Amino acid sequence: MRVAVPRTLITGAGFAGSVVARELADAGRKVHLIDRRSHIAGNAFDEHDLHGVQIHRYGPHIFHTNSERVWTYLSRFTEWHPYEHRVRGVVNGKHYPFPINRDTLNQLYGLDLDEEGAAAFLDRVREPRDPVQSSEDVVLNSVGRDLYEKFFLNYTRKQWGVEPSELKAGVAARIPVRTNTDDRYFTDTFQAMPLHGYTKMFENMLDHPNITVELGVEFSEVRQRAGFGHVVYTGPIDAYFDYRFGRLPYRSLRFEHEHLPGVEQFQPVGTVNYPNDHAYTRITEFKHLKGQQHSGTSIVREYPQAEGDPYYPIPNDENEALFKQYQALAEVEPGVSFVGRLAEYRYYNMDQVVGAALVAAQRLLGQLAPQI
Ligand code: FAD
Ligand code: UDP
Repeated sequence: MRVAVPRTLITGAGFAGSVVARELADAGRKVHLIDRRSHIAGNAFDEHDLHGVQIHRYGPHIFHTNSERVWTYLSRFTEWHPYEHRVRGVVNGKHYPFPINRDTLNQLYGLDLDEEGAAAFLDRVREPRDPVQSSEDVVLNSVGRDLYEKFFLNYTRKQWGVEPSELKAGVAARIPVRTNTDDRYFTDTFQAMPLHGYTKMFENMLDHPNITVELGVEFSEVRQRAGFGHVVYTGPIDAYFDYRFGRLPYRSLRFEHEHLPGVEQFQPVGTVNYPNDHAYTRITEFKHLKGQQHSGTSIVREYPQAEGDPYYPIPNDENEALFKQYQALAEVEPGVSFVGRLAEYRYYNMDQVVGAALVAAQRLLGQLAPQI
């Protein structure tokens, strides 16, 4: 007699949920993937706006990775448009290369430093910190107070709503400091944008006879239905447990999209950061990311806020302790796997989520009852 194996229910059609869905499907398991939003691709969702410019609804998503495994995996579902992201930071009305490099120092202070000179300069101005625990420590330890105050202090306050001294070192440590003139935001081996967009890449990933997708539905509704076996949950972990220990803080953003007709180019690079001016942190001009030709241009401003959709876990000791309480519940929750940026409360980039999802899927395939 054939016994029907229950379908796996996956909540969240972002990178975490979609990669697990595809891995299970390829291994012959049937999965049902749901999302409360009306689209797939999670926060990486992109679309053409009313004017035909490809934009990212939830802010700029630049793909970069050093993981050949992740790169090869995603390359099954998309071709790529080579793209190296560049950013400028505005200080006192002037644009400077960011992350800080030798050109930043020379332009800011009217110097003519070579590589050794730049290293010696930083060595002179840095405020050594030992141990390096907070984001304030990281920056002061590497570039000293003046550069900290010009580029980091106010941006970080605005982005997170807390002082850099109250954030783990890892937040500011995402940003390198260079004594050469490399002005790329990332130096990863693989840097590119999905040629036809993230959404198309997700469509290809989810195009499998073993995967069904249902959008605009809540996990709590679908879970009531019969016929599901294991659950993979990629939403906020505190919501799953009905905020039993209180809310885990996530930072939110409001995205203000604007199309500028007749403006061929709004700014010289993909993203311009405004550490000290405005309520927004940065402006991204999407045409740079894919080299799209258009007589107008589309930009997005990011306004950080406390309320709204959860976008960033806020890395500090208190929040991590609270997360650990939820994690302890998650570990003994029968038949449920927690994967992704919101469920693992980790400041993951996209490639790290793909990596974590591949590992989670492998583990899960080892645990699930064999398919008959
Ligand atoms: P998500 O993409 O958040 O997907 C989770 C999904 O679960 C959501 O679609 C949500 O609607 C759904 N969901 C949650 N709860 C429920 C529920 N109860 N019922 C039904 N559905 C539910 N990474 C980079 O590598 N490069 C970048 O340049 C970059 N830029 C970023 C810019 C911004 C503004 C933000 C916010 C993030 C950026 N990231 C970037 C990080 C990237 O977005 C994440 O690493 C990645 O999208 C996380 O994937 P995920 O599947 O874990 O979560
Ligand atoms: N940061 C800053 N000034 C900048 C850019 C970044 O102080 O001009 C700090 C800030 O705390 C930010 C962190 O570095 O949150 C990480 O920046 P990243 O650009 O990686 O943030 P994301 O793209 O994830 O929002």
